Amino acid sequence: MLTDIEIAQATKARPITEIADVAGVPREYLELYGNTKAKVDYNLLRDSQHEDGKLVLVTAINPTPAGEGKTTTTVGLADAMNLIGKKTVVALREPSLGPVFGIKGGAAGGGYAQVIPMEDINLHFTGDFHAIGAANNLLAALLDAHIHNGNELDIDTRRITWKRVVDMNDRQLRHVVDGLGGKANGVPREDGFDITVASEVMAIFCLATSITDLKERLGRIVVGYSHAGEPVTAHQLHAEGAMAALLKDALKPNLVQTLEGTPAFIHGGPFANIAHGCNSIMATRMAMALGDYCITEAGFGADLGAEKFLDIKCRLTGLKPDAVVVVATVRALKNHGGVPKDQLNDENLEALEAGLPNLLQHVENITKVYKLPCVVAINAFPTDTKAELDLVEAKCKELGVNVALSEVWAQGGKGGTALAEEVVRLCEQPNDFSFSYELEGGIADKIRTLAKRIYRADDVDFTAAAKKEIAELERLGFADMPVCMAKTQYSFSDDASLLGAPRGFRMTVRNVKVSAGAGFIVALTGSIMTMPGLGKRPAAFNIDVDETGKITGLF
Ligand code: ADP
Ligand code: MG
Repeated sequence: MLTDIEIAQATKARPITEIADVAGVPREYLELYGNTKAKVDYNLLRDSQHEDGKLVLVTAINPTPAGEGKTTTTVGLADAMNLIGKKTVVALREPSLGPVFGIKGGAAGGGYAQVIPMEDINLHFTGDFHAIGAANNLLAALLDAHIHNGNELDIDTRRITWKRVVDMNDRQLRHVVDGLGGKANGVPREDGFDITVASEVMAIFCLATSITDLKERLGRIVVGYSHAGEPVTAHQLHAEGAMAALLKDALKPNLVQTLEGTPAFIHGGPFANIAHGCNSIMATRMAMALGDYCITEAGFGADLGAEKFLDIKCRLTGLKPDAVVVVATVRALKNHGGVPKDQLNDENLEALEAGLPNLLQHVENITKVYKLPCVVAINAFPTDTKAELDLVEAKCKELGVNVALSEVWAQGGKGGTALAEEVVRLCEQPNDFSFSYELEGGIADKIRTLAKRIYRADDVDFTAAAKKEIAELERLGFADMPVCMAKTQYSFSDDASLLGAPRGFRMTVRNVKVSAGAGFIVALTGSIMTMPGLGKRPAAFNIDVDETGKITGLF
């Protein structure tokens, strides 16, 4: 069997100008980055008269650490849509170097459902993440220079919330003391780094609807507090103009292609735990403007990714989805049914059935809470047995759940035509899209409503620190923002070991923080990593490049 990178390298990419023609991007809006990548000027959205295509979200059940194939399904479904004659454009997140060199690997799909050039997409790409890191770190430099040069804003160095970032899994940087070396070398303080994809600049970048909106959001970033307890913003540090200048090209969506020549925008990539986990609104809008259908993905399972896509991204930008695909795998269902991760290759019909409640709860959330049409895509793995695939399909049908087998990993678009037909059908249905909570009411109320309706928690406990911070944020006027839950992706609960569809549990919110520029309150449950580390045998060990410049070992 060929690896992902072997399949990708065996496919000759078409010139990106041809893909732009397929998508309908006029040449004057196309900025070439080599022969197979281009950025598309956002002014296309302002200048062109267009009707928006249908918006299809791909999400999943609670995943295993390897991922359940959302990106693979997104890409394969788009290829399948084009095969059945529907003009479709993909919108995906850009991979972060953290997971690429860590355990998860890249994020360009898999098997015969990939976007190319996968090496470039997984490594640097068009440099957007470096630009985002630079903008973030410019603000950090301005902040510390302000303190060094007299601290006119009376910033309390013990209450600085802004961190520097780097796009790497580097636990050594989580906690640092900087500004050492005496009077000329800054003011010593405790500090720390986050990974770029966990930064608020990344979240802002992905929610910004224009350069002006980007600048306003950057200006609203709270970097810390004064000794009097008042928030200090990026605007007060005169930072937003230069930050936006660093981001002006990055903000243009990147156009590439799938293995079958479907246009794909890959742009922005916030974490789905600490941030909202979706590609940029610019890319989604552009894919909708150019395609009759836009297929997009949200990170992790539907309790995190889809919830934030719907309650945050759609709410803040006015998008209205037309259908949702929930990806499930036999492997993850068996895991939810009690099979340990090292035995997921063995057939186990009892465990498979026992794991179904996880899938059903996600489907119920999409159809009953968000009131959106939904289909389950069973992402078939080579290790699945026919009896297992038949069982999932039969059980779903028995329970009235729409289901389609997806074989896009093995076959590309032609393995996804049944799913594509169903998606087209669902998009014709009117829907009463609703949010899972309203913006009015206190921060704690919103968290409770969300936890009860989506996770089915009995209730939420707030630590003393969280209560104090909520009161403070409400006093400062941040009460009406949506909440961005930082939670484990493995469980509906805040305990990664509670698989399936747990009941009778309570959640604990440890603390909350405001991402005033992004426009949401982050609620932290459990211990959420904003700077991952590398393990003993990271994926980096297998990655290499030969004398001709050919890369191996990416997946
Ligand atoms: P997600 O987007 O949900 O995290 P991906 O689509 O990135 O998941 O897939 C994760 C990994 O699993 C990739 O390496 C991909 O090649 C592999 N994969 C996905 N679907 C299949 C499948 N049907 N059979 C085998 N491997 C698969
Ligand atoms: Mg993915």
